Amino acid sequence: ESVVNRIAAGEVIQRPVSAVKELVENSLDALSTSINVVVKDGGLKLIQVCDDGHGIRYEDLPILCERHTTSKLSKYEDLQSIHSMGFRGEALASMTYVAHVTVTTITQGQLHGYRVSYRDGVMEHAPKACAAVKGTQIMVENLFFNMIARRKSLQNSSDDYTKIVDLLSRFAIHHINVSFSCRKHGTARADVHSVITSSRLDSIRSVYGVTVSSNLMKIEASDNDPSSSLFEMDGFITNSNYVAKKITMVLFINDRLVECSALKRAIEIIYAATLPRASKPFIYISIVLPTEHVDVNVHPTKREVSLLNQEVIIEKIQSVVESRLRNSNQ
Ligand code: ADP
Ligand code: MG
Repeated sequence: ESVVNRIAAGEVIQRPVSAVKELVENSLDALSTSINVVVKDGGLKLIQVCDDGHGIRYEDLPILCERHTTSKLSKYEDLQSIHSMGFRGEALASMTYVAHVTVTTITQGQLHGYRVSYRDGVMEHAPKACAAVKGTQIMVENLFFNMIARRKSLQNSSDDYTKIVDLLSRFAIHHINVSFSCRKHGTARADVHSVITSSRLDSIRSVYGVTVSSNLMKIEASDNDPSSSLFEMDGFITNSNYVAKKITMVLFINDRLVECSALKRAIEIIYAATLPRASKPFIYISIVLPTEHVDVNVHPTKREVSLLNQEVIIEKIQSVVESRLRNSNQ
């Protein structure tokens, strides 16, 4: 059984960056305002995520890392969102099958926190009382220690660290009411360091730099006709002065960081046709639509989504992007 669990876990957590994504999403779900990540050896040796969220109650610790255990489904209606998010209550459990996981947490009003380590879904020992500041700290050590081939294939750790920095940059520009940091273990300098701000543009400037931010144009679109599609979209796209080697598309749907290759391709096509010189844009888009219209259809780590009425939505966004580009080009 443990081999089966390990293989399944290796599918949910494919690389260090997938673990970081799950941990940071948990911190966001816990209403944190500060999330700090430390990484050693590209995440293979250590991933540590510290947050100042609401913490984990003592009585939840024994089952925290059991598969399909989640504190996020309280009502029957939430079953719909299980479907849309997929793979509920699977992330932490998975990590314990392919790494050593230690949780330190304190909930509001408690005098001390608790620390507990997990292996293969269960606690290694009873929670130990310890000093703790507000929130939760999760340490994932020796990721894939029991998957030799995987560990070998990931040994180019600078590549994974780059992916982790990229991931946190994306979170940082969407969640502007949360401060994020990311650094390599043993260094003082943070490679992502965002502060809480009230302006998305300020946040993009601080994370991606002025070359991106000074060339951004705001876009907005919506549809409130239930018979075609229901959605609201807003974002930023770069103008003809921004020239880059590759396209960057940061997409949030209902506040979840996802990929939608159809939408990405559709926007690329518009750029190539309208601004051939600037055909590798930077794009940030946030879409809000009814949860039951989102289908996470491929894999928990890839988060490739498809949308109900996808064609209609993509066409609307395409035409907004196109007219924005044409106006700026005159
Ligand atoms: P899910 O997020 O789908 O519920 P996870 O395996 O990611 O499943 O997490 C399991 C549970 O652990 C969560 O439902 C939550 O109750 C708790 N949890 C994990 N990380 C944190 C955190 N940083 N702060 C508070 N609670 C957390
Ligand atoms: Mg989670």
